[in-house]
Parts: sequence; structure tokens; C-alpha cells
Amino acid sequence: MSFDYDLFVIGAGSGGVRAARVAAGDTGAKVAIAEESRYGGTCVIRGCVPKKLMVFASGYGTMGEEARAYGWDVQIGNFSWPAFREKLEAELDRLEGIYQRLLDNSAVERFAQRATVVDAHTVRLADGTTKTAKHILVATGGRPVRPDVPGAELGMVSDDIFHMAEMPKSVLIVGGGYIGSEFAGVFNGLGVKVTQFYRGLQILRGFDEEARSLIADEMRNAGIDLQTGIDVQRLEADGAGVKVTATDGSVTTFDKVIFATGRKPNTDGMGLEDVGVKLGSKGEVVVDEYSQTAVPSIYAIGDVTDRVQLTPVAIREGMAFVETVFKGNPTKPDHDLIPTAIFTQPEMGTVGLSEEDARVKEPIEVYATSFKPMQQSFAGGAAQKILMKLIVSKATRTVLGCHIVGPSAGEMIQMAGIAVKMGATKEDFDRTVAVHPTAAEEIVTMRTPVRTT
Ligand code: NDP
Repeated sequence: MSFDYDLFVIGAGSGGVRAARVAAGDTGAKVAIAEESRYGGTCVIRGCVPKKLMVFASGYGTMGEEARAYGWDVQIGNFSWPAFREKLEAELDRLEGIYQRLLDNSAVERFAQRATVVDAHTVRLADGTTKTAKHILVATGGRPVRPDVPGAELGMVSDDIFHMAEMPKSVLIVGGGYIGSEFAGVFNGLGVKVTQFYRGLQILRGFDEEARSLIADEMRNAGIDLQTGIDVQRLEADGAGVKVTATDGSVTTFDKVIFATGRKPNTDGMGLEDVGVKLGSKGEVVVDEYSQTAVPSIYAIGDVTDRVQLTPVAIREGMAFVETVFKGNPTKPDHDLIPTAIFTQPEMGTVGLSEEDARVKEPIEVYATSFKPMQQSFAGGAAQKILMKLIVSKATRTVLGCHIVGPSAGEMIQMAGIAVKMGATKEDFDRTVAVHPTAAEEIVTMRTPVRTT
């Protein structure tokens, strides 16, 4: 049977674009891709990239004071959201153009419209045309969800933040995960009065307890009204603002409410179940270790599979798919020991097991140190503390986890992640000469465990 394409990719985000262009570019496969929104997907258009630029923007507010302590005669004025947003939009246009060109240069045919699945080898485009392909790759990502409370439609989600006409004076952020905690820091840094509600005991559930406690403390020290054990019950319009009734009975009006209460895989109306693809309870595409669905010709990668919702992981899954299907080299994406950064303020970089998760698995030694960074200590004022922490197996001496909170923690964990992925022992860390004077040197100079189990 002959097909229009060897591969039809649905969704031009990080994972889909990488799979499409590598399949076409490296193997000469005939590839098409469909995208209903903008090329680049969540990460480039409404996620990691604009968020990180907003993190940078929010950091300048305190720099004037610090610079003055270092002898500079400077004054930081006000932040202009419209000026920043204009520049941000131009940057996103530029990046989208790069993604389009990458596809064009690999001879991937682009369809700027929605595609749904008709059968194991056929997709239908929004204009009604159908295309056949030997393989279909679903890489449609996910989208933010609002909780099921009255008036939820009055709240924004992360996608809306980048399109705001003006900066609000006050915001309520609902949720204590990556997105909520990152944007609490961003808005606070931009001079917005921030309240954050988290329904549990401590934000950033699943991460190392000591690390997330430090982040929560420093967020509060920086002026964020972070409240735990609380949730929204009802939202009502109140003039131009939103009146929020909370589970503790309190009623407050905020300029904006932002829900950062998790994301849902984009599988609604895709026709996947009708053709035999299995979906899980959240609507995620169920795949095996090779990203293959219950229909052998259909694969899925990235957030739509709800494995690990991170761009570099989606890219790895896309590469492994091409290796398996187009290069005859069956390859499973490796989901073990993934380093990651959370761009809270202070930032966290983490890889491997938290102290709590390691402790239930085997006897461990915990090495940790906390100190104020040299640059900010010199300036005086309220310097945020740094935390460096290693979790070490007593039996094998392997470093099971590394957790860093502080400036450039994301940059540091990428490097430490190599050692941890290689199975480095505590003694390997000890044998490495410190780079002085840096904050990172503390990771190789901790000599005595602070706790053992
Ligand atoms: P998360 O799952 O990380 O966090 C969702 C938060 O909302 C949790 O605190 C959760 O509470 C809370 N929540 C969920 N449902 C409700 C509800 N009905 N009412 C009140 N609170 C609720 O999701 P995010 O949206 O923050 O991020 C999605 C994913 O995107 C992340 O898991 C991450 O993989 C990725 N991401 C990565 C980034 C990075 O690498 N820096 C940045 C941003 C996103 P509870 O803990 O109790 O479940």
C-alpha cells in the first residue's frame, strides 16, 4: 500500500518539530506536520521561553540597590509592561520563524491547521482534506486547566499572562506547582502585590522538603503572601477585579486571578479512541516504552503522553521515536535521573531522589550547607540563602540526589547532573578540586553528613 507520507506529525511543538525534521533530514523520509496554533508549541510560544524572559525582567528591580552598594550611582525607574511585551512578541515571532525554517530546510511539508485521526493511517485536516501516512505521531501537548469552582472562567491561565493589556496591581495565584510558584516570583519582582494559595501544606510537592521549605521562606521574605492549606471556593466579578471567596471564609478582591492548577493532555476530539488508541484517566495517550500506542502505526510523544512534562524530555522521546521507527534501531527514551530547574525566586536545580524518597529506599547520608551568596552579602540588605544538598547511598556511596537552591541553580544542576547520571560517588565529588571563589564549590567541600539514617 502506498501512502502520501512516511510520517505525519500532529503538533509542531518541541517534540513534534524535532521528530519531523530528524526523520526527514536524517533518513530522507517524506514527512508532513500539522499545527493549529503557532509553530514552537507551548515551550516557545506560551511557556518556558516567554516565562524565562519574564523571570529576567523581574530580576532588574532589585539590581539598582545592589549596584549602589557596589558604588554605582544608578536609579531604577518603573517597569513598562507594554514596552517589554512588544519586545517579547517580536522575539517570539523570530523564534517561530526559526522553527518554520528548520522544518522547511528539512523538506517537511507544513499544514497550518488542525489535524485529527481518521484511521490507523489517515488524518483529516480542518479544511476537510485527508492525508495518509505509514506512521502518525501525535505530539499535541497539553493545556492549562481551571478547577471546577463557580466563576472559574473569570480567572486567567498561564497562556493568558503573555497577552495582558496591562500589569495588574494585585494578583491571586492559585496552585503551588512549577507554574504558580514561578509566576508568583515574576509578578512580585515586577512590583505586583502577589497572593498565592496552595491547597496542601507546602508548595512544590514531590521535591526535596528542605529545598522547597527554603524557597517558600524566601518567597515570603521577598513579600509574597504565600498561604497554604487554602483554596478558592467561588469567584465573582467585582468592577474590573475578581472577588474571591476562599475556603477559610475570607473574601478578597484581586485585579487578576491566575489558575496554575495543572495541565491536561490535548486529546479531546482527536478521534484517537475511535481508531483504537487507548487513553488514560486524564486523557493522556497510553504508550509503551517506545512511545507506541495501542495502534501499531500511531506513536505519541511529549506532554500528550503525560510521562514527564518537560521540553527536553519530549525532544528525547521524539529522537528515540525516529531512531526506532526510521533508523531500525529500537531505542527507549531514558526517563531516569532527569535534571530540572524551577525558576522560582530563588531558583532550584534538582536531580535524583529527594531526601524523603531516598530514605524509604535505603540507608543514606545527607550532606547539606546553607549560606548567603558573596555578591548579595557584600551589598547588605536581605540576601536570599543558598542551599546545597547531596543525598548519598551508605551502601554504594553513590550520589542519589543533588538539590541546589540559589542564583543560577539551573545552570549548576546541568553540570552536577552529568556526574549524578554517570553514577558518581560522594568520593568522586570530594576528589574534585573546588573552583574558588564560587557558590558552586560548596558541592565538593561538604565533609560531614548533617544526618544519616
Ligand atoms: P503542577 O502539577 O506542577 O502543579 C499544579 C498545582 O496546582 C499543584 O500545586 C496542585 O496541588 C494544584 N492544584 C491542582 N488541582 C487543583 C485544584 N482543583 N484546586 C487547587 N489547586 C489545585 O502543574 P503546573 O501547571 O504548575 O505545571 C505543569 C507541568 O509543566 C509541571 O509538572 C512541569 O512538568 C511543567 N513545567 C516545567 C517548568 C520547568 O521546567 N521550569 C515550568 C513550568 C511547567 P497538589 O500539589 O495538591 O496536587
